[in-house]
Amino acid sequence: MFIEIETVKAIDYQLCIIGAGPAGIILALEYANANPHQKILLVECGKNVTTTNPLDDSIRVSNSQNHHDPYDCTNKGLGGSTASWGGRCVMYDDIDFIPHGPVQSNCTWGPEFLESVRPYLQSACDYFNCGRAQFELENPKPIAENFRSSSVTDHHIERWSLPTRFGTEYGRQLKSSENIHVLAGYYASNVGQLDANNCVNSVELRSLNEESTHSVNAEKFVFCAGGQESTRLLLKSPHLFKNLSSIPASLGKYYQGHSSGKIAFVKFYGNHQKTEFAFTMDTDGTYCRRRFQFSKDAIIQNRILNIAFWLDIPPVYDPAHRNGTLSFIYLMMISPVLRKILLPPAIARSLTAEKKNGIRDHVWNVLRGLPVSLTLPAVIFVKRYLRRRKLPGVYLLSKENRYAIHFHSEQVPAERNQIALSENGQQLEIHYEYTDDDIDSVIQSHELLDEYLRHIGCGELQYLHDKSDLPGVIRNTSKDGLHQMGTTRISKTPEDGVVNFDLRVWGTENLYVCSSSVFPTSSQANPTFFLGACAVRLAAHLSKLART
Ligand SMILES: Cc1cc2nc3c(=O)[nH]c(=O)nc-3n(C[C@H](O)[C@H](O)[C@H](O)COP(=O)(O)OP(=O)(O)OC[C@H]3O[C@@H](n4cnc5c(N)ncnc54)[C@H](O)[C@@H]3O)c2cc1C
Repeated sequence: MFIEIETVKAIDYQLCIIGAGPAGIILALEYANANPHQKILLVECGKNVTTTNPLDDSIRVSNSQNHHDPYDCTNKGLGGSTASWGGRCVMYDDIDFIPHGPVQSNCTWGPEFLESVRPYLQSACDYFNCGRAQFELENPKPIAENFRSSSVTDHHIERWSLPTRFGTEYGRQLKSSENIHVLAGYYASNVGQLDANNCVNSVELRSLNEESTHSVNAEKFVFCAGGQESTRLLLKSPHLFKNLSSIPASLGKYYQGHSSGKIAFVKFYGNHQKTEFAFTMDTDGTYCRRRFQFSKDAIIQNRILNIAFWLDIPPVYDPAHRNGTLSFIYLMMISPVLRKILLPPAIARSLTAEKKNGIRDHVWNVLRGLPVSLTLPAVIFVKRYLRRRKLPGVYLLSKENRYAIHFHSEQVPAERNQIALSENGQQLEIHYEYTDDDIDSVIQSHELLDEYLRHIGCGELQYLHDKSDLPGVIRNTSKDGLHQMGTTRISKTPEDGVVNFDLRVWGTENLYVCSSSVFPTSSQANPTFFLGACAVRLAAHLSKLART
């Protein structure tokens, strides 16, 4: 049920969750289900997703070339950033839990963590509406003629959520729940002192519209405030670490997202009708897409970062593709009004690359391609915007059997990529960039993929730029901030990280973080699906504690 602050202050809650994004909502629903007689408080800063808020207003990004603006990175409101997320659900890989390439000792979790999350994958799939918890195909037909898996594989898939907007999808359930109390329009601003048992007993809440503060009490607290805000809450609370020899050295550091983009085409040599370039639909109706990935051994031997590639449309902003449908889509995307309706700003920007040149050539492409240049976008529009399960993106058959190849790469956990408080404690300062290791690994991975495809006689890569320009192109065009990992990382000891394997903050007995900021490595995977599984796991853990 939705509740007012005066009522909240009179209740002692068993569990208080800060933040109602997917992590907070999954945790609240799972825990409430397992503990129907306990009271759970779910505090959400945003009242509706469009208003400005003091949190985003107090974030400063030092490198806007590689990091999106705060308002483009997250949404504040019930459902959190799923108000604009794409819905791509991807699984972390075994390699992400063992030291590899430039990651080495910064891989502060281990394979046992992955194994402990596996039992919760199907529940997470159910919350995200993305079908079966199966992310690898068994004995699939090759992605392209003559392809066979070895050091490069083609059997991994991404699954697509509706995309599920958690606020809409679970709002009614939260409203009708007897034991979940949702308090909207308040944000956690400070954390109370530790008591003699190393427990936090209260958190201070501040309303979005007034200056007054209110204290709420609970037996256990979980920060589900997203990567940046969960980190901010800990940075503002050095008193939580008074039982450790010092504040965890890694807090706020090793901030990671992904490098991502297109620097090459793949030209397959075989029959174009045998290339699986499109989204496919699983038996349960979920959209899926195949990905090229390297085997664990290949990643270790070549000392590269984990990376995935998928077949994609050519860059839409470049009229050289000579495709009327793509040019029409591009012209829609540069229209200030339509782009706001059709895509979140961060995604629209990456599609258009903020370029407005070649408009005449785009118009010419549209005219030359009539009527398909208009009828195909209309079909795509219906499938993508008017259906409950939405087409995740645009794909087009290439009769030349030549596709752009989109990479999505793990990032090095670099100490200098950080989220820190400004000197007066009022601002969150974000420093984020790509290291030479990030860039080198992307280039080396393309070379390895090219070598492999040629070796098996399946195809080759054709670069979009001179090879000498590739480092600059990747550095100038890659951008993240949507995926926020590393800054409150899991570790086996308090010296190496911020939370333990149960996601409990080192030095405390009852404070937890459930955000992708606990992931020490960023994988090739978008983080939200794995985070959802971690939220289900945390609910099970807290329920077990509640029973003892
Ligand atoms: C445009 C876009 C596209 C994306 N696409 C994908 C994708 O395809 N696949 C994928 O895996 N991920 C994607 N992501 C990332 C994904 O949205 C996030 O990983 C996910 O939403 C994180 O969930 P969360 O619950 O940890 O945090 P959030 O969703 O950010 O929710 C946190 C909530 O906490 C609230 N909050 C914050 N601070 C406080 C406070 N102090 N007190 C009270 N409440 C607070 C916020 O208002 C918010 O509602 C995308 C993100 C964006 C912006």
